[in-house]
Amino acid sequence: MNGRHIGIAGAGLLGRLLAWRLSAAGHRVEVFDPAAGPDDRTPPQAAGWTAAGMLSPIAELETADLATARRGWRSLDLWAEWLPRLPRQVDFRRQCSLLLAHRADAGSAQRLLAVLAAKGAAWPGPQPLSLPQLAELEPAVHGPALAWLLPGEGQVHAVQAMQALAEAATAQGVRWHWQQPVTEAEPGRLDGRRFDHVFDVRGLGARPALPVRGVRGEVAWVQARGLVLNRPLRLLHPRWRVYLVPRPDDVVLVGATEIESEDRSPVSVRSLLGLLSAAHSVLPELAEGRVLHLETNLRPALPDNLPCLHTQPGLTRINGLFRHGWLLAPAMVEEALAASTLESLV
Ligand SMILES: Cc1cc2nc3c(=O)[nH]c(=O)nc-3n(C[C@H](O)[C@H](O)[C@H](O)COP(=O)(O)OP(=O)(O)OC[C@H]3O[C@@H](n4cnc5c(N)ncnc54)[C@H](O)[C@@H]3O)c2cc1C
Repeated sequence: MNGRHIGIAGAGLLGRLLAWRLSAAGHRVEVFDPAAGPDDRTPPQAAGWTAAGMLSPIAELETADLATARRGWRSLDLWAEWLPRLPRQVDFRRQCSLLLAHRADAGSAQRLLAVLAAKGAAWPGPQPLSLPQLAELEPAVHGPALAWLLPGEGQVHAVQAMQALAEAATAQGVRWHWQQPVTEAEPGRLDGRRFDHVFDVRGLGARPALPVRGVRGEVAWVQARGLVLNRPLRLLHPRWRVYLVPRPDDVVLVGATEIESEDRSPVSVRSLLGLLSAAHSVLPELAEGRVLHLETNLRPALPDNLPCLHTQPGLTRINGLFRHGWLLAPAMVEEALAASTLESLV
């Protein structure tokens, strides 16, 4: 190893990606995290574990800015390039996604389309689908009166990717320090330990250095034997932002609430009823599905809900990936390494 000595605070999505990329570039990498081990998912687990893994640069423009969309398109290309290099298979698909609305919600659909059109002129926008076209793409979908194809969007299996990134980084010599939270990340130092460069990617653990807050999200994993769903569905709903993401083994991940609260308690009855009834209104086969798993987690968000990437000599902080972490992380890691010149040091 002739590279630099790098310390990373946080072994969530960003921490694992950084560890893997930096060790691949020949740097000597150490990672610190309060979790008990690489597969520890007991709360407060990394937000990365709970994510649906939607990679939606078009639809996320509803609330995100153009920089997020630009980074999202770049990340889609990077995931396609990077995931096949990992030691275990990660379910990654780029087969577009669908935006659906019931007749009664045509008004909110029109509003969303207008927002996307105003913001996203540089990229392909939603393409209207007739009901026969929708039936051809997704025969299991019944109920919505309106549908659009979101070209180029994708999905990644977050749990598989978290596991595979840790394995790949370990194989490249990364040293993990589990059950070791970092209190202070400063230029060239993590709690007094010296490094050539330090990355602070602690998510909510970066307080008080950053004014980050947690935004509660709840998801349900439903298994419906025989159900065929080829791509993520996003249902326009007056009260819920509901998406349904297919995962292997006939599992559909239904998510996700977005509640201004740091309450990590289990999924509420109100949220579960809302998410599943909305999901069932477009995928009737879910009625006989089995709820395998319910999960709550907090998205790390900054006051403006935009991500931050701050680099100074000896220290890089990345945070505030909010509801777009899987969409943003590869592009932001690429930018961070370029900005800190670590990519070219070896
Ligand atoms: C319900 C839900 C659904 C989501 N769906 C999507 C989606 O479909 N698409 C998408 O793009 N994004 C989605 N996200 C967002 C995405 O998961 C996050 O943006 C992303 O995980 C943020 O990555 P991160 O590495 O900054 O933080 P995290 O993944 O939270 O990792 C932070 C790490 O820092 C560690 N840490 C905390 N304190 C300390 C400390 N003191 N010292 C050292 N380490 C510390 C934590 O243990 C953790 O391992 C979703 C999130 C949630 C909760």
